[in-house]
This record gives sequence, C-alpha cells and structure tokens, in this order.
Amino acid sequence: MISGPAMSFTLIFVICGIVLGLAIGMVPVYLTNRYQRRKAMGEISVEKQKKNTVTYHVGFGVWFMGLGLLQLNSRRGEEIPWWVWMWIASALMYFIAAYRLYVKEAKPIEYDRVYKNDPTKCGKCGYDVVHIQSASCPECGWTLPNLDEVRLQSHDVWCWWKKGNWQIVYLEEDMRKKAQRGFYVTVVMEVIVACVIGLWLLSKEGGWHSFSVPVIFLVFLSLLSIHKFINVHRIRKYYERVDGEK
Ligand SMILES: [Zn+2]
Repeated sequence: MISGPAMSFTLIFVICGIVLGLAIGMVPVYLTNRYQRRKAMGEISVEKQKKNTVTYHVGFGVWFMGLGLLQLNSRRGEEIPWWVWMWIASALMYFIAAYRLYVKEAKPIEYDRVYKNDPTKCGKCGYDVVHIQSASCPECGWTLPNLDEVRLQSHDVWCWWKKGNWQIVYLEEDMRKKAQRGFYVTVVMEVIVACVIGLWLLSKEGGWHSFSVPVIFLVFLSLLSIHKFINVHRIRKYYERVDGEK
C-alpha cells in the first residue's frame, strides 16, 4: 500500500485524469447535441443528414477495422486475444449499419420538417418553390404540404429538466416501444459493466485506479438509465392524456 506524499500524488493524478477525461468527453456530447438540435429544427436537408450519418458509420468501421487488422498483423503466429476479434466484429457492425442507413427511406415528416424551416425551397430536393402555383415541386414531384397541418414535436422534448418542459405537448410518432427498448438496453449495459467490475475486483490485485474507467462508465450509464426511465414515464403520461382526450 502506498502512503504519504506518494499516495496524495496518485490521488491528485487520478482526479486530474477524471476531470480532463470528462472535459474532453463533453466536446462530442456538445457537438452531437448541437447537430441533433439543428436536425430537429429542419436546418439540415434529408440528403445531407443521410450522407453525414453514413459517413460517420463508415468512419467508425474503418477505424475499428484498422485497429483490428494492425493487431492481427503485429501478432502473427501468436494467439489472438478476444478483444481484437471484438474490434473486427464492431467494424463489421458499423459497415452493416452504414449500408442499412444508406438504403433506408426517409420518413415523410423528415421532408416536412426541412420544408417548414424554409418554405421557399422544396423539402425534398431543395428546388426554389417561392413562385410555384401548383401543389407539388416541378423538379422532383414532391407534394408540398400545407404548413398549417405540419405539426412537429419540440426539438428539446426529451429535456425534462427544462422549465415548463415536463409535460410532453406533442409527439410525431409512437415512442412507447422505442423509449422502453432504449431504457432496457441501458439497464442491460449497466449490468454488464457492473459484472465486469465485479470480476475484476475478484480476479485482480491491481490498484483501485485501474477501474476508474469502468466505474465512470457505470456512473454515466446509471445517469443515462434514470434519464431514459423518466422519459418513458413522461411518454406514458402523454398517451394517457391524449387517449383520454379522444
Ligand atoms: Zn423537389
């Protein structure tokens, strides 16, 4: 056991590491949030959204595949550890996801959203429709929707902590199953991480700082599952109200 100045130095080092890790972790969270918000406001064309998400998935696939192949190459003739296969499997999963996103048809509401944000252009192809008399786009044939009938959910509908936001006003699609599934997935991941930490504790003599990463991950997952649980509850209340008003 280390004690005295060495111990406090280790402690400071670990705390600085955690703070720095969280700070760096906030950057992608911030960027993702900003992007999701712009998407929800209809500021990004559907075509561009598809291109972004496919590129993102291919990028991760290439990254994991590269790591996996480098490891395979440097360990020729040796036993390949399981996590190398996990990297390669993740790469394949990203490639499959990228392909599925590429062939997926956008929902009509996606085009409506873009059109509502900028009614001077066609929501589908971006053609200038300011002086168009007909009800459809002359370029691609998309039917221009009546903007009074296009109802969008609030872009920050899931931010229950914001003032006046607790009660859901409107949802574009039935979110009950999707939200419940999201909640269960987080809980399952939480249990897996907790088991990994447990096994680690049982099998290793390593210092406590060696599991600071899984512990941070577990805290993050716990907060995420609470957040998702609250939203599942809000969604349930919303449908109770909407069904009651019918
Ligand atoms: Zn068009």
